[in-house]
Amino acid sequence: MGSSHVIQLSSDSDAERGTGMPNDSVLIVGGGPAGLEAARGVADLGKKAILVEARDELGGTPYASSYATLTPDLRDTEEEMAGLLGDVRKHPLVDVRLGTRVVKSEGRAGEFRVTLTGGDGAQVEEEVGAVIIATGFQHFDPGRETQMYGYYEYDDVITLVDAEKMMKKGKIVRPSTGEPPERVAFIQCVGSRDRQIGNKYCSKVCCGIASKQSIEIKRMLPNAKVFIFYIDMRMYGFWEDQIYWKAQEEYKVNYVRGIVTEIIRKGDRLLVKGEDTTMGRPVEVLMDMVILSVGMEPSRGTIEMSRIFNIPREDHGFLATQGGPLDTVSTPVPGIFVAGAAAGPKDLEDSISMGGAAAMKAVALLNRLQRVSVG
Ligand SMILES: Cc1cc2nc3c(=O)[nH]c(=O)nc-3n(C[C@H](O)[C@H](O)[C@H](O)COP(=O)(O)OP(=O)(O)OC[C@H]3O[C@@H](n4cnc5c(N)ncnc54)[C@H](O)[C@@H]3O)c2cc1C
Ligand code: SF4
Repeated sequence: MGSSHVIQLSSDSDAERGTGMPNDSVLIVGGGPAGLEAARGVADLGKKAILVEARDELGGTPYASSYATLTPDLRDTEEEMAGLLGDVRKHPLVDVRLGTRVVKSEGRAGEFRVTLTGGDGAQVEEEVGAVIIATGFQHFDPGRETQMYGYYEYDDVITLVDAEKMMKKGKIVRPSTGEPPERVAFIQCVGSRDRQIGNKYCSKVCCGIASKQSIEIKRMLPNAKVFIFYIDMRMYGFWEDQIYWKAQEEYKVNYVRGIVTEIIRKGDRLLVKGEDTTMGRPVEVLMDMVILSVGMEPSRGTIEMSRIFNIPREDHGFLATQGGPLDTVSTPVPGIFVAGAAAGPKDLEDSISMGGAAAMKAVALLNRLQRVSVG
């Protein structure tokens, strides 16, 4: 497993027996945190980066879904990402193409020919030596199979993403009344860790995000009671201390180990029914608002890239890598790398680290191919 990258760069590879001089630029697909860092890395290492983003703005899901603040410091998303975006936009070696998608790819490492389509339908062909896929994730649709939470039925059942959008506007209110809620419940693991719907994985960030949002709700509405219903809390690394203990001790958020089985309307409130698994007894509590902690699934763009570049998908549907824990960015296709949530649930730290690693490996490959072709 760990030798996969060596195979990719070995002098026996087909790519290194290519006829012409390998192309010296790298295509990055996806302008979210992972793709931005990959583009900055490639350019800082002296190669040309072509950064293709399907939407009309860079910034990825944190921008497109209007995240208010980011972990762990609850700083404004736009402020937090401004440095990275600024570096990419002004770097002379980064060529940003907004509203653009990849529709076709031919060739191999060192000499890919990719066809790009812009919003106006016009097609251009580009030659690149390596490709980094950073097409990210999409949020689980809570109306899809978890009907008992009533996301499309009750206005006051919302998702983490809806809550971020509200917080971005500086307030948290019940959608049904426009009034601040007195009692708010988060339900964890919606669409994750659920074998019945086929998502047999933990989405990694939602325990931290729910805890972060519960702090924000308590800051905005100090008298509100906030409950988090969880199977088990999964806080990674420093988040345990920075977010979870802070929510519990400083902000008096109530963590309830339990499974919510159903939400029904009762008067103008929501009755949350389930089981408190610590006490081993049924619970029924009235809430003004319920926030569903929806997980991550591969985005449509990620699935599209798997087809266009012939990258296999791993068991959970994300793009496969073949280096195990020691190489998280090399796909089984020589010359094609992956970064961020396209490869599985990732937080920002993971996504940025993978973007940097993918840039380094892509540039190392180009340098190696060039040495072989000159020598
Ligand atoms: C509600 C919520 C809040 C979160 N808050 C935090 C937080 O506070 N801290 C934290 O660490 N993590 C947070 N996360 C996780 C964070 O959003 C991800 O780690 C991060 O967005 C992953 O970055 P990415 O670049 O891999 O993917 P994305 O951000 O999804 O970006 C992918 C980009 O690729 C583009 N794209 C897709 N398909 C194509 C295509 N075919 N062609 C061209 N472009 C394409 C998309 O338009 C998008 O711009 C949160 C997640 C959720 C669900
Ligand atoms: S991070 Fe927490 S809420 Fe999200 S899937 Fe994992 S355990 Fe469930």
